[in-house]
Amino acid sequence: MLKTMRRIFQWCGSRRNRLYWGFLWSFLSAMFTAMPIIGAAYALNLMLEHQAGRRILTPVYSLYFLIFMVIMIMGRFLFSYLRAVFQDSVGHEVTAEERMRMGDILKRVSLGFFDRHSTGELVGAVTTDLSFVEMYAMNMLDTVIGGYISAFAMILCLGFYSWTAAVIAVIGVALSALSLRLMGYFSHKNAPVHQQAQNEIITASLEYIKGIPVVKAYGQEGASTANIRKAFRRHRSINVKIERQYVPCNCLHLIALKLASVAISGAAALMAAAGKMAVSEFLMMAIFSFVIFGQVEKVNNATHVLQVIGPTLDKLDKIKGTDFIDENGIDLVPDNFTIELKNVDFAYERRKVLDAVNFIVPQHTTTAIVGPSGSGKTTVCNLIARFYDADSGCVSIGGIDVKRMSCDSLLRNISMVFQNVYLFHDTVMNNIRFGKPDATIGEVEEAAKKARCHDFITALPQGYETMIGEGGSSLSGGEKQRISIARAMLKDAPIVILDEATASVDPENEHFVQAAISSLTQGKTILVIAHRMATIKSADQILVLDEGRIVQRGDHESLAAQEGVYRRFIEIRKQAEEWNI
Ligand code: ADP
Ligand code: MG
Repeated sequence: MLKTMRRIFQWCGSRRNRLYWGFLWSFLSAMFTAMPIIGAAYALNLMLEHQAGRRILTPVYSLYFLIFMVIMIMGRFLFSYLRAVFQDSVGHEVTAEERMRMGDILKRVSLGFFDRHSTGELVGAVTTDLSFVEMYAMNMLDTVIGGYISAFAMILCLGFYSWTAAVIAVIGVALSALSLRLMGYFSHKNAPVHQQAQNEIITASLEYIKGIPVVKAYGQEGASTANIRKAFRRHRSINVKIERQYVPCNCLHLIALKLASVAISGAAALMAAAGKMAVSEFLMMAIFSFVIFGQVEKVNNATHVLQVIGPTLDKLDKIKGTDFIDENGIDLVPDNFTIELKNVDFAYERRKVLDAVNFIVPQHTTTAIVGPSGSGKTTVCNLIARFYDADSGCVSIGGIDVKRMSCDSLLRNISMVFQNVYLFHDTVMNNIRFGKPDATIGEVEEAAKKARCHDFITALPQGYETMIGEGGSSLSGGEKQRISIARAMLKDAPIVILDEATASVDPENEHFVQAAISSLTQGKTILVIAHRMATIKSADQILVLDEGRIVQRGDHESLAAQEGVYRRFIEIRKQAEEWNI
């Protein structure tokens, strides 16, 4: 638990001082809670002496007492208020920063990172996990540390009257802390299972919601619901199991506290009976014992949560501790945009996908890559953009190894258009502007015109301000593709990579997309993965990829004249194009 606390303090960075100040205010607030009890006992003593005729009390004493109580209450509220001011916003600030940092991390890691971490895990990290830390770690820190500090302040006051009672109180607190350690042991053991179940329900829910059209089309409502239900049931049974383990520890904790409380009251009663303590002091000690252990009891629930936070922090740290792809990258601006792959090998999780790939795309020329599905074409694009790093060999732009460039400086020079277009849940304007965040409205419209999408955008209900659904679901495939081309157009990068950009576009729309692509690629260095013969034929160089190797290279005429994969490929394409597919 101490380790977890230390880590939370580390998390807070420079805001730590505010937490320390908060604890000082907690201490003072507890003092101001304890003092009225002492004051009341003192007043009771005076009243008893007054009744016994040993002292005469005038009404002005009531006024003093009243003033004393008001000062105490105000002091307590003042310090509680100060504590809240100093501590409460720390959690929100730290988690907001942490979320942004996490966003930055996800931008800087290689795509392999996403192969290793499920969507559920990552969504969980930036949503529930961080909220968990935000909600509990910070507030609980106050309850746990603040709780112990308050108990300590009160034990000090108690010790002022009876050190025996103070010792009993310390033993009670120590015993309860021991039961909390036991609980911590179980929390630590259960946390990974709990977290996995949590990730499972996020992944299952995301898949269920995203896949609803497929689920309906295949009449698989039953099977999908069964999956999601299974995840929910697992989550529930793990929670129940964890709760069951906590119950005995919780009881132990409460018993320790109640026994200590009874022991203090008992000791005070014995001393009062022996005439060593005034009745008022006995009452005061009984009240103290309840207040102190009330504080410690609150700590119990908080600790329970604090211990689960340890593994959550582990998980977040693991994500943060990942290898950044541009750790050593510096801002380099190539003076030409010739792309070169030299002896490049690459494997996804030990499965070799590219084998000694060599090629050059000279500046301002077009290279087309053709090859069967799964031959590694997309992987080549991924390596150029450093979505992944080559295992061996070198990928360079303008003679500079891409590993030496920062991701920002590299990607500033590359526009990519993919087969699967991703549009954000935002306006059309902002989706296009993503290519150049500081673009003016005029620039966005200009790009849209060149990408042949201005006309259909202005026909939308709110024109450029129309919201398009998550993934752009309210637009047709061709329209989405042209918006993504407008985005690339606006970016105006010297290198253009097109990965089957027209593959999912319907034939009626294809010539619009082709026209958009032609204006995007003018004067650029182009790598195109295409299936349309016209695009392939007009390329300066064609690379034929098969099972991760370049098996043929040359221009259309020379390749078509040879026996081999390319000739078979164009025969199939010719037939397909006759059928218009
Ligand atoms: P192409 O674009 O030519 O269809 P890819 O480059 O996408 O081929 O894929 C090449 C091979 O690598 C395929 O066999 C594919 O299954 C595999 N592959 C692609 N992406 C991943 C990934 N993220 N993890 C593991 N294997 C992958
Ligand atoms: Mg591909």
